[in-house]
Amino acid sequence: MFKRDRIAAGLSVGRNLGFAWWLCAFAVLCAVPGGATGIKNPLLAYGARIVGDDARTRIVIDFDREPRFSVHYIANPERIVVDLPATAFGFPAKDLEARGLFKDIRYGAMDEGSARIVLTASRPVQLALAKVQSDENGTGHRLVLDAEMIDEQKFAELVKTQSWNNQADATQTTSAIPLPEKTAPGDFVIAVDAGHGGIDTGAIGVDTKTEEKQVTLAFAKALADRLNKEPGIKAFLTRDDDEFLSLSQRVLIARQNHAALLISLHADTLKQKDIRGATVYTISDKASDKLAADLADRENLSDQIAGKETVAEPPEVADILLDLTRRETQAFSISLAESVLASFKDQVGTINNPHRHAGFRVLQAPDVPSILLELGFLSNVEDEKRLLDDGWRVKMADLLTDAVKRYRTSLMANGG
Ligand SMILES: [Zn+2]
Repeated sequence: MFKRDRIAAGLSVGRNLGFAWWLCAFAVLCAVPGGATGIKNPLLAYGARIVGDDARTRIVIDFDREPRFSVHYIANPERIVVDLPATAFGFPAKDLEARGLFKDIRYGAMDEGSARIVLTASRPVQLALAKVQSDENGTGHRLVLDAEMIDEQKFAELVKTQSWNNQADATQTTSAIPLPEKTAPGDFVIAVDAGHGGIDTGAIGVDTKTEEKQVTLAFAKALADRLNKEPGIKAFLTRDDDEFLSLSQRVLIARQNHAALLISLHADTLKQKDIRGATVYTISDKASDKLAADLADRENLSDQIAGKETVAEPPEVADILLDLTRRETQAFSISLAESVLASFKDQVGTINNPHRHAGFRVLQAPDVPSILLELGFLSNVEDEKRLLDDGWRVKMADLLTDAVKRYRTSLMANGG
Protein backbone atom coordinates (compact mmCIF):
# COMPACT_ATOMS: atom_id res chain seq x y z
CA MET A 1 0.00 0.00 0.00
CA PHE A 2 0.96 3.57 -0.48
CA LYS A 3 2.43 5.54 2.38
CA ARG A 4 0.61 8.82 2.42
CA ASP A 5 2.65 10.35 5.21
CA ARG A 6 5.75 9.97 3.20
CA ILE A 7 4.21 11.65 0.22
CA ALA A 8 3.30 14.63 2.30
CA ALA A 9 6.81 14.84 3.73
CA GLY A 10 8.43 14.44 0.34
CA LEU A 11 6.23 17.07 -1.20
CA SER A 12 6.62 19.71 1.38
CA VAL A 13 10.28 19.89 0.52
CA GLY A 14 9.67 19.23 -3.15
CA ARG A 15 7.57 22.26 -3.90
CA ASN A 16 8.98 24.48 -6.56
CA LEU A 17 12.47 23.29 -5.87
CA GLY A 18 12.69 22.18 -9.45
CA PHE A 19 15.72 24.02 -10.61
CA ALA A 20 17.59 23.84 -7.33
CA TRP A 21 16.91 20.13 -7.23
CA TRP A 22 18.31 19.76 -10.68
CA LEU A 23 21.49 21.55 -9.72
CA CYS A 24 21.73 19.33 -6.67
CA ALA A 25 21.27 16.25 -8.75
CA PHE A 26 24.00 17.49 -10.99
CA ALA A 27 26.27 18.12 -8.05
CA VAL A 28 25.65 14.59 -6.83
CA LEU A 29 26.33 13.28 -10.29
CA CYS A 30 29.61 15.10 -10.45
CA ALA A 31 30.60 14.19 -6.93
CA VAL A 32 29.75 10.54 -7.21
CA PRO A 33 30.38 9.53 -10.77
CA GLY A 34 28.81 6.22 -11.48
CA GLY A 35 27.39 6.07 -7.95
CA ALA A 36 25.05 3.19 -7.27
CA THR A 37 22.04 5.39 -6.57
CA GLY A 38 18.93 5.63 -8.72
CA ILE A 39 19.63 9.26 -9.54
CA LYS A 40 22.83 8.66 -11.39
CA ASN A 41 20.95 9.25 -14.58
CA PRO A 42 17.68 11.00 -13.81
CA LEU A 43 15.28 12.06 -16.48
CA LEU A 44 15.52 15.72 -17.25
CA ALA A 45 12.24 17.62 -17.40
CA TYR A 46 13.45 20.69 -19.24
CA GLY A 47 10.24 22.47 -20.17
CA ALA A 48 6.65 22.81 -18.96
CA ARG A 49 3.48 24.56 -20.01
CA ILE A 50 -0.02 24.81 -18.60
CA VAL A 51 -3.03 26.23 -20.42
CA GLY A 52 -6.78 26.02 -20.09
CA ASP A 53 -9.64 27.11 -17.92
CA ASP A 54 -11.86 25.85 -15.14
CA ALA A 55 -13.41 23.15 -17.32
CA ARG A 56 -10.33 21.78 -19.09
CA THR A 57 -6.65 22.27 -18.38
CA ARG A 58 -3.70 20.90 -20.32
CA ILE A 59 -0.23 20.36 -18.87
CA VAL A 60 2.72 19.51 -21.10
CA ILE A 61 6.13 18.59 -19.71
CA ASP A 62 9.17 18.09 -21.95
CA PHE A 63 11.59 15.28 -21.09
CA ASP A 64 14.97 14.40 -22.55
CA ARG A 65 13.95 10.75 -22.70
CA GLU A 66 10.75 8.80 -22.69
CA PRO A 67 9.33 8.84 -19.14
CA ARG A 68 7.45 5.90 -17.71
CA PHE A 69 4.70 7.23 -15.55
CA SER A 70 1.59 6.28 -13.63
CA VAL A 71 -1.42 8.29 -12.57
CA HIS A 72 -3.47 8.10 -9.40
CA TYR A 73 -6.32 10.02 -7.83
CA ILE A 74 -6.57 11.05 -4.19
CA ALA A 75 -9.58 12.61 -2.48
CA ASN A 76 -9.90 15.36 0.15
CA PRO A 77 -8.88 17.51 -1.55
CA GLU A 78 -9.10 16.13 -5.06
CA ARG A 79 -5.61 15.49 -6.36
CA ILE A 80 -3.99 13.84 -9.34
CA VAL A 81 -0.66 12.20 -8.63
CA VAL A 82 1.76 11.48 -11.45
CA ASP A 83 4.61 9.16 -10.49
CA LEU A 84 7.83 9.22 -12.46
CA PRO A 85 11.29 7.69 -12.24
CA ALA A 86 13.98 9.94 -10.74
CA THR A 87 13.58 13.25 -12.52
CA ALA A 88 15.46 16.52 -12.46
CA PHE A 89 12.94 19.32 -12.85
CA GLY A 90 14.90 21.94 -14.75
CA PHE A 91 12.20 24.33 -15.93
CA PRO A 92 11.41 27.65 -14.23
CA ALA A 93 8.76 27.23 -11.52
CA LYS A 94 6.60 29.93 -13.08
CA ASP A 95 6.11 27.78 -16.19
CA LEU A 96 4.06 25.31 -14.17
CA GLU A 97 2.20 27.64 -11.87
CA ALA A 98 -1.26 26.43 -10.87
CA ARG A 99 -4.11 27.68 -13.02
CA GLY A 100 -7.32 26.48 -14.61
CA LEU A 101 -8.61 23.42 -12.79
CA PHE A 102 -5.59 23.32 -10.49
CA LYS A 103 -5.04 25.47 -7.43
CA ASP A 104 -1.69 24.00 -6.45
CA ILE A 105 1.05 22.13 -8.30
CA ARG A 106 4.04 20.52 -6.61
CA TYR A 107 6.78 18.34 -7.94
CA GLY A 108 10.02 16.89 -6.75
CA ALA A 109 11.90 13.79 -5.64
CA MET A 110 10.17 11.11 -3.60
CA ASP A 111 13.30 9.07 -3.03
CA GLU A 112 16.45 8.30 -4.95
CA GLY A 113 14.65 6.41 -7.64
CA SER A 114 11.37 8.24 -8.06
CA ALA A 115 9.77 11.62 -8.46
CA ARG A 116 6.24 12.83 -8.23
CA ILE A 117 3.98 15.58 -9.52
CA VAL A 118 0.93 16.39 -7.40
CA LEU A 119 -1.83 18.42 -9.02
CA THR A 120 -4.32 19.69 -6.47
CA ALA A 121 -7.59 20.48 -8.17
CA SER A 122 -10.21 23.03 -7.23
CA ARG A 123 -12.97 20.54 -8.06
CA PRO A 124 -13.31 16.86 -9.07
CA VAL A 125 -11.21 16.16 -12.16
CA GLN A 126 -9.95 13.32 -14.27
CA LEU A 127 -7.31 12.98 -16.91
CA ALA A 128 -9.12 12.50 -20.18
CA LEU A 129 -5.70 12.04 -21.74
CA ALA A 130 -2.34 11.09 -20.26
CA LYS A 131 0.28 10.09 -22.76
CA VAL A 132 3.85 10.53 -23.92
CA GLN A 133 4.46 11.86 -27.41
CA SER A 134 7.71 12.20 -29.31
CA ASP A 135 8.79 15.71 -30.22
CA GLU A 136 8.41 16.62 -33.86
CA ASN A 137 12.19 16.89 -34.19
CA GLY A 138 12.78 13.60 -32.39
CA THR A 139 15.00 15.07 -29.67
CA GLY A 140 12.76 14.44 -26.72
CA HIS A 141 9.44 13.32 -25.40
CA ARG A 142 6.58 15.25 -23.98
CA LEU A 143 4.13 14.13 -21.36
CA VAL A 144 0.68 15.48 -22.14
CA LEU A 145 -1.95 15.55 -19.39
CA ASP A 146 -5.42 16.76 -20.31
CA ALA A 147 -7.57 17.26 -17.23
CA GLU A 148 -11.27 17.89 -17.35
CA MET A 149 -13.82 18.47 -14.63
CA ILE A 150 -16.12 15.61 -13.66
CA ASP A 151 -18.78 15.24 -11.00
CA GLU A 152 -18.10 14.15 -7.42
CA GLN A 153 -19.58 10.73 -7.89
CA LYS A 154 -17.37 9.94 -10.87
CA PHE A 155 -14.30 11.14 -8.99
CA ALA A 156 -15.20 8.95 -6.00
CA GLU A 157 -15.44 6.00 -8.38
CA LEU A 158 -12.03 6.79 -9.85
CA VAL A 159 -10.48 6.85 -6.38
CA LYS A 160 -12.22 3.64 -5.37
CA THR A 161 -11.57 1.57 -8.46
CA GLN A 162 -7.98 2.53 -9.21
CA SER A 163 -5.16 0.17 -8.48
CA TRP A 164 -1.95 1.51 -7.00
CA ASN A 165 -0.02 -1.54 -8.12
CA ASN A 166 -0.98 -1.76 -11.72
CA GLN A 167 0.80 0.86 -13.78
CA ALA A 168 -0.95 0.06 -17.02
CA ASP A 169 -4.26 0.41 -15.29
CA ALA A 170 -3.30 3.70 -13.77
CA THR A 171 -2.18 5.32 -16.98
CA GLN A 172 -5.14 4.11 -18.91
CA THR A 173 -6.83 7.10 -20.42
CA THR A 174 -10.44 7.52 -21.13
CA SER A 175 -12.85 10.30 -21.74
CA ALA A 176 -15.77 7.91 -21.74
CA ILE A 177 -17.83 9.37 -18.97
CA PRO A 178 -20.96 7.36 -18.29
CA LEU A 179 -24.21 8.61 -19.66
CA PRO A 180 -26.70 10.00 -17.17
CA GLU A 181 -28.32 7.21 -15.24
CA LYS A 182 -31.68 7.16 -16.93
CA THR A 183 -30.26 7.34 -20.41
CA ALA A 184 -30.70 4.29 -22.58
CA PRO A 185 -28.50 3.69 -25.60
CA GLY A 186 -30.19 5.24 -28.60
CA ASP A 187 -31.81 7.99 -26.59
CA PHE A 188 -31.68 11.43 -28.15
CA VAL A 189 -29.96 13.39 -25.37
CA ILE A 190 -30.52 17.14 -25.12
CA ALA A 191 -28.63 19.55 -22.90
CA VAL A 192 -30.95 22.34 -21.79
CA ASP A 193 -28.79 25.22 -20.61
CA ALA A 194 -30.29 27.92 -18.41
CA GLY A 195 -28.20 31.00 -19.18
CA HIS A 196 -26.34 32.81 -16.36
CA GLY A 197 -26.72 31.80 -12.69
CA GLY A 198 -25.22 32.42 -9.29
CA ILE A 199 -23.14 35.60 -9.15
CA ASP A 200 -23.97 36.26 -12.82
CA THR A 201 -27.58 37.43 -12.74
CA GLY A 202 -27.73 38.23 -16.45
CA ALA A 203 -30.08 40.98 -17.55
CA ILE A 204 -32.58 42.68 -15.23
CA GLY A 205 -36.20 43.21 -16.26
CA VAL A 206 -37.20 46.77 -17.08
CA ASP A 207 -40.47 46.66 -15.15
CA THR A 208 -40.49 43.99 -12.43
CA LYS A 209 -36.69 43.80 -12.09
CA THR A 210 -36.81 40.08 -12.77
CA GLU A 211 -33.37 38.53 -13.15
CA GLU A 212 -32.56 36.77 -16.39
CA LYS A 213 -30.99 33.84 -14.51
CA GLN A 214 -34.38 33.11 -12.90
CA VAL A 215 -36.31 33.40 -16.15
CA THR A 216 -33.91 31.04 -17.92
CA LEU A 217 -33.92 28.47 -15.12
CA ALA A 218 -37.71 28.38 -14.86
CA PHE A 219 -37.98 27.99 -18.61
CA ALA A 220 -35.20 25.39 -18.79
CA LYS A 221 -37.00 23.24 -16.22
CA ALA A 222 -40.30 23.52 -18.10
CA LEU A 223 -38.63 22.70 -21.41
CA ALA A 224 -36.70 19.70 -20.05
CA ASP A 225 -39.87 18.32 -18.44
CA ARG A 226 -41.77 18.73 -21.69
CA LEU A 227 -39.02 17.13 -23.80
CA ASN A 228 -38.80 14.20 -21.39
CA LYS A 229 -42.44 13.35 -22.11
CA GLU A 230 -41.36 12.33 -25.61
CA PRO A 231 -40.33 8.71 -26.01
CA GLY A 232 -36.67 8.37 -26.95
CA ILE A 233 -35.79 11.91 -25.86
CA LYS A 234 -33.81 12.52 -22.68
CA ALA A 235 -33.31 16.13 -21.71
CA PHE A 236 -31.11 17.22 -18.83
CA LEU A 237 -30.23 20.58 -17.30
CA THR A 238 -26.68 21.94 -17.24
CA ARG A 239 -27.67 23.65 -13.99
CA ASP A 240 -30.79 22.95 -11.95
CA ASP A 241 -30.35 25.61 -9.31
CA ASP A 242 -28.94 29.08 -8.87
CA GLU A 243 -25.29 28.20 -9.45
CA PHE A 244 -22.62 29.82 -11.55
CA LEU A 245 -21.25 27.79 -14.45
CA SER A 246 -18.56 29.12 -16.74
CA LEU A 247 -19.26 28.99 -20.46
CA SER A 248 -16.75 26.24 -21.06
CA GLN A 249 -18.19 24.22 -18.18
CA ARG A 250 -21.57 24.34 -19.91
CA VAL A 251 -20.04 23.10 -23.14
CA LEU A 252 -18.15 20.34 -21.35
CA ILE A 253 -21.22 19.16 -19.42
CA ALA A 254 -23.08 18.78 -22.74
CA ARG A 255 -20.18 16.86 -24.26
CA GLN A 256 -19.63 14.63 -21.22
CA ASN A 257 -23.27 13.63 -21.32
CA HIS A 258 -23.03 12.86 -25.03
CA ALA A 259 -25.68 15.42 -25.84
CA ALA A 260 -26.97 15.39 -29.40
CA LEU A 261 -28.07 19.00 -28.97
CA LEU A 262 -27.44 21.94 -26.72
CA ILE A 263 -30.08 24.60 -26.29
CA SER A 264 -28.89 27.63 -24.33
CA LEU A 265 -31.71 29.84 -23.05
CA HIS A 266 -31.53 33.58 -22.54
CA ALA A 267 -33.68 36.67 -22.14
CA ASP A 268 -31.36 39.62 -22.45
CA THR A 269 -31.88 43.35 -22.63
CA LEU A 270 -31.30 45.70 -25.54
CA LYS A 271 -30.80 49.44 -25.58
CA GLN A 272 -33.67 49.68 -28.05
CA LYS A 273 -36.54 49.03 -25.67
CA ASP A 274 -39.11 48.67 -28.43
CA ILE A 275 -37.48 45.56 -29.88
CA ARG A 276 -39.28 42.43 -28.81
CA GLY A 277 -39.69 38.80 -29.78
CA ALA A 278 -37.60 35.67 -29.97
CA THR A 279 -34.27 35.21 -31.78
CA VAL A 280 -32.29 32.07 -32.53
CA TYR A 281 -28.50 32.26 -32.70
CA THR A 282 -25.98 29.86 -34.12
CA ILE A 283 -22.22 30.15 -33.90
CA SER A 284 -20.09 31.86 -36.47
CA ASP A 285 -16.66 33.51 -36.53
CA LYS A 286 -18.21 36.53 -38.13
CA ALA A 287 -21.32 38.05 -36.62
CA SER A 288 -24.36 38.46 -38.86
CA ASP A 289 -24.91 42.03 -37.64
CA LYS A 290 -24.08 44.50 -34.91
CA LEU A 291 -26.91 43.43 -32.62
CA ALA A 292 -25.69 39.83 -32.70
CA ALA A 293 -22.06 40.87 -32.23
CA ASP A 294 -22.89 43.06 -29.22
CA LEU A 295 -24.99 40.36 -27.65
CA ALA A 296 -22.28 37.71 -28.08
CA ASP A 297 -19.73 40.11 -26.55
CA ARG A 298 -21.95 40.63 -23.54
CA GLU A 299 -22.73 36.93 -23.14
CA ASN A 300 -19.05 36.08 -23.38
CA LEU A 301 -18.38 38.43 -20.47
CA SER A 302 -20.21 36.03 -18.16
CA ASP A 303 -16.97 34.42 -16.96
CA GLN A 304 -15.43 37.78 -16.12
CA ILE A 305 -18.46 38.82 -14.10
CA ALA A 306 -17.75 35.87 -11.84
CA GLY A 307 -14.09 36.82 -11.57
CA LYS A 308 -12.89 33.96 -13.73
CA GLU A 309 -9.77 34.61 -15.68
CA THR A 310 -10.43 34.29 -19.35
CA VAL A 311 -7.70 32.20 -20.84
CA ALA A 312 -7.05 30.63 -24.16
CA GLU A 313 -8.41 27.17 -24.71
CA PRO A 314 -5.86 24.38 -24.93
CA PRO A 315 -4.54 24.69 -28.45
CA GLU A 316 -6.52 22.47 -30.73
CA VAL A 317 -4.37 20.35 -32.92
CA ALA A 318 -4.81 21.35 -36.54
CA ASP A 319 -6.86 18.42 -37.54
CA ILE A 320 -8.76 18.03 -40.76
CA LEU A 321 -11.20 15.62 -39.12
CA LEU A 322 -12.00 18.08 -36.36
CA ASP A 323 -12.52 20.74 -38.97
CA LEU A 324 -14.96 18.53 -40.85
CA THR A 325 -16.78 17.70 -37.61
CA ARG A 326 -17.08 21.39 -36.81
CA ARG A 327 -18.50 22.19 -40.20
CA GLU A 328 -20.96 19.33 -40.03
CA THR A 329 -22.00 20.39 -36.51
CA GLN A 330 -22.55 23.92 -37.71
CA ALA A 331 -24.81 22.68 -40.49
CA PHE A 332 -26.84 20.71 -37.94
CA SER A 333 -27.06 23.75 -35.67
CA ILE A 334 -28.41 25.82 -38.54
CA SER A 335 -30.91 23.13 -39.38
CA LEU A 336 -32.15 23.07 -35.78
CA ALA A 337 -32.41 26.88 -35.73
CA GLU A 338 -34.53 26.74 -38.88
CA SER A 339 -36.73 24.05 -37.39
CA VAL A 340 -37.29 26.20 -34.28
CA LEU A 341 -38.24 29.22 -36.39
CA ALA A 342 -40.60 27.11 -38.48
CA SER A 343 -42.37 26.11 -35.25
CA PHE A 344 -42.54 29.74 -34.11
CA LYS A 345 -44.06 30.95 -37.38
CA ASP A 346 -47.44 32.59 -36.74
CA GLN A 347 -47.29 31.32 -33.14
CA VAL A 348 -44.57 33.34 -31.43
CA GLY A 349 -43.41 36.85 -32.21
CA THR A 350 -39.85 37.04 -33.42
CA ILE A 351 -37.56 39.98 -34.17
CA ASN A 352 -36.67 40.89 -37.75
CA ASN A 353 -34.24 38.39 -39.25
CA PRO A 354 -34.80 36.02 -36.33
CA HIS A 355 -31.92 33.67 -37.24
CA ARG A 356 -28.66 35.45 -36.52
CA HIS A 357 -25.15 34.31 -35.80
CA ALA A 358 -22.12 35.41 -33.79
CA GLY A 359 -19.20 34.03 -31.80
CA PHE A 360 -20.99 32.83 -28.67
CA ARG A 361 -18.58 30.82 -26.54
CA VAL A 362 -21.35 28.65 -25.15
CA LEU A 363 -22.04 27.38 -28.68
CA GLN A 364 -18.48 26.30 -29.41
CA ALA A 365 -18.66 22.52 -28.89
CA PRO A 366 -17.12 21.08 -32.05
CA ASP A 367 -19.36 18.03 -31.98
CA VAL A 368 -22.64 19.11 -30.33
CA PRO A 369 -25.07 21.04 -32.54
CA SER A 370 -25.95 24.08 -30.45
CA ILE A 371 -28.31 27.03 -30.55
CA LEU A 372 -28.78 30.00 -28.27
CA LEU A 373 -32.40 31.02 -27.95
CA GLU A 374 -33.31 34.51 -26.84
CA LEU A 375 -36.81 33.86 -25.58
CA GLY A 376 -37.56 37.55 -25.59
CA PHE A 377 -36.10 40.73 -24.17
CA LEU A 378 -36.32 41.80 -20.55
CA SER A 379 -35.84 45.36 -21.82
CA ASN A 380 -39.31 45.27 -23.36
CA VAL A 381 -42.29 45.55 -21.02
CA GLU A 382 -44.52 43.26 -23.11
CA ASP A 383 -41.82 40.61 -23.45
CA GLU A 384 -41.09 40.75 -19.75
CA LYS A 385 -44.75 40.06 -18.95
CA ARG A 386 -44.74 37.14 -21.31
CA LEU A 387 -41.50 35.68 -19.99
CA LEU A 388 -43.13 35.44 -16.56
CA ASP A 389 -46.36 33.88 -17.84
CA ASP A 390 -46.87 30.16 -17.18
CA GLY A 391 -49.22 29.68 -20.14
CA TRP A 392 -46.74 31.25 -22.53
CA ARG A 393 -43.97 29.06 -21.12
CA VAL A 394 -46.00 25.91 -21.77
CA LYS A 395 -46.77 27.00 -25.32
CA MET A 396 -43.10 27.81 -26.04
CA ALA A 397 -41.97 24.47 -24.60
CA ASP A 398 -44.50 22.70 -26.84
CA LEU A 399 -43.31 24.52 -29.95
CA LEU A 400 -39.67 23.85 -29.16
CA THR A 401 -40.41 20.19 -28.57
CA ASP A 402 -42.09 20.04 -31.99
CA ALA A 403 -39.01 21.67 -33.49
CA VAL A 404 -36.67 19.17 -31.85
CA LYS A 405 -38.82 16.26 -32.99
CA ARG A 406 -38.88 17.55 -36.55
CA TYR A 407 -35.12 18.04 -36.49
CA ARG A 408 -34.64 14.52 -35.16
CA THR A 409 -36.93 13.03 -37.81
CA SER A 410 -34.95 14.75 -40.54
CA LEU A 411 -31.74 13.33 -39.06
CA MET A 412 -33.18 9.84 -39.09
CA ALA A 413 -34.46 10.30 -42.64
CA ASN A 414 -30.88 11.17 -43.62
CA GLY A 415 -29.54 8.12 -41.85
CA GLY A 416 -28.29 10.10 -38.82
ZN1 LIG B 1 -28.16 36.12 -21.40
